[in-house]
Amino acid sequence: MKTHAIRIHEYGGPEVLKWEEVDLPDPGEGEARICHTAVGLNLIDTYHRKGLYPLELPAGIGSEAAGVVEALGHGVADIGIGDRVVYTGMPVGSYAERRNFMADRLVKIPEGISDEVAASVLLKGLTSWYLLRRSYRVREGDAILLYAAAGGVGSLASQWAKQLGATVIGVVSTDDKAELAKSQGCDHIILSDDDIAARARELTDGEGVAAVYDSVGKDTFLASLDSLRFHGTMVSFGNASGPVEPISPLELAQRGSLYLTRPVLFHFIRTREELTAACGELFAAIDRGMRVRVGQTYALQDAAQAHLDIEARLTTGSTVLLP
Ligand code: NDP
Repeated sequence: MKTHAIRIHEYGGPEVLKWEEVDLPDPGEGEARICHTAVGLNLIDTYHRKGLYPLELPAGIGSEAAGVVEALGHGVADIGIGDRVVYTGMPVGSYAERRNFMADRLVKIPEGISDEVAASVLLKGLTSWYLLRRSYRVREGDAILLYAAAGGVGSLASQWAKQLGATVIGVVSTDDKAELAKSQGCDHIILSDDDIAARARELTDGEGVAAVYDSVGKDTFLASLDSLRFHGTMVSFGNASGPVEPISPLELAQRGSLYLTRPVLFHFIRTREELTAACGELFAAIDRGMRVRVGQTYALQDAAQAHLDIEARLTTGSTVLLP
């Protein structure tokens, strides 16, 4: 059958995102065909578009979507036609009206969660889960530093960290975002233009924070290390300002025998069992009151505008593209 998708033929700015008619084969062994109702936008999509995370071109783009199962290949168990599902992962290609995806990577959307919310929470919510529960396991009373606290991941992670009993120090770029981040549970705010390490120490009586969750990358890496307490953990998980330059392990020794990790979500949900268990924790956090805020929506065909806006730091909460 024919469908439409955003494709890229070369790396570059948002203008390389092209809306095209494409052939979609019948679902193969173990696959399901999904008619998308909501596509999640993530900053990682811009890394793919720019070639920071290389793809084999020409390629589709997008790592998250929700929709309805329309057709099944051979050998699919547990998923049926008509099921409402959401997924995240490789291969990229969720910016499409329809696509085929491995059925054992699909998650049934619980009743009471809309497709839009599902598409805006799976990748970002599971990221929040592994950051707070695996990369550095937050303990009650820990002070943590979290960048982009009013953004997609940041909005969820700040609320979840509060549920775990942490004192959350959020970093944001504007006063409006500061208000938003506070309303989502941040105890303290540091503006990105401030001396981040000095403020983090001031807010922790000179001790420093137990963990930093740094998605900004290049521009903030050293300030983040300088914000940590003895034996603190630096979780560097994004490149919003560009990839971090190589560093010597001595930098960690000099600052108090620190731990450094550079994680990627997909390494924490490799098996169906891991994915299911992680989603269980995510949906439980939502049941306990974690709010999923869709800050803005765009038509899927206007994905280029959405990329412009997220890269210009104009979005808040999650962003959803509507086919
Ligand atoms: P966001 O909605 O958080 O948008 C990005 C935010 O980053 C901006 O709103 C901005 O917030 C902040 N930012 C700081 N510096 C810059 C800059 N130079 N250019 C653009 N933005 C900047 O995006 P997502 O929720 O999709 O992703 C958040 C981060 O998490 C990203 O870095 C992403 O790569 C990372 N990530 C990593 C994963 C992993 O497994 N490793 C998985 C998922 C996400 P402000 O204006 O307040 O500074």
